[in-house]
Amino acid sequence: MICLKCPFCFYDESKVVDSRSTDDNTTIRRRRECSSCGRRYTTYEKIEDIPILVVKRDSTRENFNREKIVNGLIIACQKRPISRKQIEELAEDIEKNISNNMLTEVESSVIGEMVMDRLKNLDEVSYVRFASVYREFKDITTFIEEINVLRTNNK
Ligand SMILES: [Zn+2]
Repeated sequence: MICLKCPFCFYDESKVVDSRSTDDNTTIRRRRECSSCGRRYTTYEKIEDIPILVVKRDSTRENFNREKIVNGLIIACQKRPISRKQIEELAEDIEKNISNNMLTEVESSVIGEMVMDRLKNLDEVSYVRFASVYREFKDITTFIEEINVLRTNNK
């Protein structure tokens, strides 16, 4: 864990006034304002060190876990011509995408959409399977609608 304490008074709470990533996208430079003495200082945080929190439907948060995406994809892609490597690349791509946007919190539904976007291009059957689990279709009508949308798009 990086020390983000105020270098002047060592208070450990601050407000971020500006964030930008460095040119190589590995570090985030943040201007912070100390909540105690009000002085400003700069911190450099490695993107890989910043945990991404996933906000679940019930507003609780958990650490982003790439393995969870991989496991969901393995189920969706069962008996489909998709390799483990493709699945892992897809999950990695999503993680990178979140990091590059410097998000520290992301809604679980947003991750679901990201997975579906990518899966749609990869394999239609897996996509529908995944979507059915992810969106928790309430009834068959919604499910059929989803399939019809796919068909229309492919025409
Ligand atoms: Zn301070």
